[in-house]
Amino acid sequence: MRRMGHGLHRRVRIEPGKRADLAKIDADDTLGLERDEAEELVRERQERLEVLQGYLKWGAAQALVVLFQGMDAGGKDGAVRQLVAGLNPMIVNFVAFGKPTKEELAHDFLWRIRREVPERGEISLFNRSHYEDVLVVRVDELVPEPVWRPRFEVINTFEAELARQGTTVVKFMLHVSRDEQLERLAERATLPEKHWKHSADDMRKRGQWDAYMEAYEEAIKRTGTEVSPWYVVPADRKWVRNAVVLDTVVHTLEEMRLPTPTPPEDAAEELLNRPAGD
Ligand code: ADP
Repeated sequence: MRRMGHGLHRRVRIEPGKRADLAKIDADDTLGLERDEAEELVRERQERLEVLQGYLKWGAAQALVVLFQGMDAGGKDGAVRQLVAGLNPMIVNFVAFGKPTKEELAHDFLWRIRREVPERGEISLFNRSHYEDVLVVRVDELVPEPVWRPRFEVINTFEAELARQGTTVVKFMLHVSRDEQLERLAERATLPEKHWKHSADDMRKRGQWDAYMEAYEEAIKRTGTEVSPWYVVPADRKWVRNAVVLDTVVHTLEEMRLPTPTPPEDAAEELLNRPAGD
């Protein structure tokens, strides 16, 4: 059962230092999966995730950050929801990074990120991240290039330091096509139940598509490392996206070699032999 999934994580991993040619990566790819197979895989990985989360908590020596980037309507919220469905909400921290506040802007760009790094034994899910500081900041020219360009190095040092301390960072770029994005944005503009997600700014950013793709490609190339690789997920089909994300997160936790709890042999017996009412 655990073998199911054809190593999806391997298929979407960008080798460290390699360029991801986003125009050539098919956002509509099914990676050879059928929908029911993908949904079964998601359920199976969610179950495994719950077990691994328990091991992580029990070991209390390591931690995990899963971060999501992507164009608007790329499915960041949906991917997080699928992950949360497999996690104990008591020990998962969920953070969305929006436009920096005045206080955040008064600090270095990693300040607000550091505050959300999980404690040992826990998991944090980031909707957007420190990568906004080399993406939107670059495309909208919020700071000049001599300020944002050195951030690639700063990010690599930060993530390497986290890895040394036992905190693994998994990085997803949810890759949607322009057509699919337009369809989703149009639904947000027209359907009452989706209207709360509508933002006029999304259409403006859509007009900067090519500049964003260039910024993503460089960020992925400059910050993909052995300890913290990028995964570019075909995200036009939500069920493919979910299967890839769940498979990759479970794979990452398996690779962390979490210690397996070993209850003392007599613990169960002792509990069962306690007098009633204890
Ligand atoms: P989302 O689009 O993620 O659902 P919002 O509608 O609140 O959430 O959008 C958050 C906005 O904040 C995005 O437009 C994003 O580009 C912007 N943002 C995030 N981080 C930064 C940053 N460091 N500098 C400037 N803008 C940022």
